[in-house]
Amino acid sequence: MKKVFGIQSFRLCQQGVCNANMDGRDVVCIMPTGGGKSLTYQLPAILTPGCTLVISPLLSLMRDQLLHLQEAGVEAVMLTGGTPKSLSDEIQSRLISLALSKSSGQAGREIKLCYVTPEKIAKSKVFVSLLRKLVEGGKLARIVIDEAHCVSQLGHDFRPDYKKLSVLRQFFPHVPILALSATCPPKVLQDILKILQMKPVVDGKASGREGTVHFSAPLYRKNLHYYVHPKPSSVKEVISTMSEYILQNHKNESGIVYCLTKKDAEFVAESLRNVSNDAIKTGVYHSEVPDVQKEQLHTLWRKGTVQVVCATIAFGLGIDKGNVRFVLHHTVPFADSCSQKSLDGYYQESGRAGRDGQDADCVLYYRPQDASRLSSITCSEAAEGQAKLRDMLRFAQDMQECRKILFAKYFSESSDLSVASWTTDEANAMDRCGHCDNCTRPPETVNYKDVTIEAWQILKILSAVEDQGGRLTVSGVSDLARGLGGGSFDTGGKRKKIRGKVQLDYAAVAGGKVMLSKEDAESLIVQMLITGYLKEAFASTAYTVNVYVVSGEKAFRLSRFSRDDIVDGKGPRIECSFRRQARKGKAAVKKRVARQSPGDLNSGEDDDVIQPPKRAR
Ligand code: ADP
Ligand code: MG
Repeated sequence: MKKVFGIQSFRLCQQGVCNANMDGRDVVCIMPTGGGKSLTYQLPAILTPGCTLVISPLLSLMRDQLLHLQEAGVEAVMLTGGTPKSLSDEIQSRLISLALSKSSGQAGREIKLCYVTPEKIAKSKVFVSLLRKLVEGGKLARIVIDEAHCVSQLGHDFRPDYKKLSVLRQFFPHVPILALSATCPPKVLQDILKILQMKPVVDGKASGREGTVHFSAPLYRKNLHYYVHPKPSSVKEVISTMSEYILQNHKNESGIVYCLTKKDAEFVAESLRNVSNDAIKTGVYHSEVPDVQKEQLHTLWRKGTVQVVCATIAFGLGIDKGNVRFVLHHTVPFADSCSQKSLDGYYQESGRAGRDGQDADCVLYYRPQDASRLSSITCSEAAEGQAKLRDMLRFAQDMQECRKILFAKYFSESSDLSVASWTTDEANAMDRCGHCDNCTRPPETVNYKDVTIEAWQILKILSAVEDQGGRLTVSGVSDLARGLGGGSFDTGGKRKKIRGKVQLDYAAVAGGKVMLSKEDAESLIVQMLITGYLKEAFASTAYTVNVYVVSGEKAFRLSRFSRDDIVDGKGPRIECSFRRQARKGKAAVKKRVARQSPGDLNSGEDDDVIQPPKRAR
């Protein structure tokens, strides 16, 4: 390790993985991006006879590895669909002579590592029969599957050719497999084991020598500084806020802005460029960007010609850039797969910052209303997707608990990872990090309030609306509760304004208006969604899915009390943190949106509609 790679000491669980690996065990190793997964097979590869086969999904990734290995003087090759025939013939004949050679030593130019794309295994009979020869000659040391979550449809990066890697165990039952990933919730892990036909996982205490050894590296990275910033309601203001942030904190440094949709990514890229007068050079990356352009972007970004990549989650796999100084999330992250996402995904995406170990910032732009936009996309996945989304919202809403602790709790609850293994050093996993937004927040900027009465009022109003067969959006509930007429009923697809026949004296039902600002009221509604007093309901039309807010399973615990009881302190208490930060240009924004028509929650970005106060009769 020292001599060849110039690495002085092992990191995280590298040594354990190397040992288990050299011991011939099947191994699954989950280690954060930048944690050093490559060493866990490269070191065994040069220490043991034979060739290590590495399956990797991306050419750029392989090329980097190859360069790195060649610099270190290690014999490594790569075979892909694009390898010129003469070169691929040469490599194959070298592998055949390795297979036939009698020596078990480390003969001169013996290929130690052979990188291939999964297509090689899935589609090339010639290559598979070559592997068979290697195995027969006892020269296939191990099979490494990098980015192993790609085998699972439950993951976020499923690749059909990866799934076909199941033949490896079938053809070569005795060759140990090492599966590597940075992102692997328990369900995906089980799926990987099943598809790759690896043995079931044994825990550390099992004495037997059978079974897959599972390593999960500590996840906490103290050079990452987490912040949740309030997201302005106007699309333009979001862009100018981001631009200001980048120019003030990361001028000319590399970063990523993750966006929810392809359209958003394109829009954000263009707007950041415009609003900064080209001071921020942006590029766009999503699944529909042609491959040539993607490669080009990677190159320009690496060189620094492009400063900020605006991307969907498609941008991730194989980012091998150490000096990413910031990762911004334009919206609470979300993907269309229920098993991986929300907080797992967020950790993964934000973790692309600071891989070089230097300080980096991870900023999430959040406003409660985004919860509705997200829900409309997750709704197809019903309960599980909703639960995942709530984990994310809980994180975003929290203005007190240290981000490190929030992650630690989340990971220890959602996987078998113990909280203690979250950190690399002796520092207690449950000590506050001291540098995230919640650790550094001036106390006067948060108002932590008992809002049980307001919550009770919201439930009363909602149930009155429900009794009338109406449904309300987050924004609708908030408006109506605050005595505004901006809400609209939805009775089976057809929208009706709250006036005329369906009007009711909601303020009377609730014993008065809810005295909160629109933002605070929406924060409270999200808080009530997270805690189960409210829940989402969906109605799909031909064009969109509308998200409504209805009473949740815990609603009755509160609504069964009278208002006087609540005032007297009976029943459960509901508390919520509210931001107390004067937002720049707030008045102007209000004025502007006030002129718009009543909003449809799913109509897109700018749906913070404030109606002029109307008195309910
Ligand atoms: P991963 O595949 O887990 O994302 P890599 O294997 O690409 O990460 O390693 C990331 C970086 O960390 C590389 O530059 C590598 O040389 C470096 N690295 C790996 N292990 C160590 C170590 N024990 N000490 C110092 N640097 C390391
Ligand atoms: Mg890697």
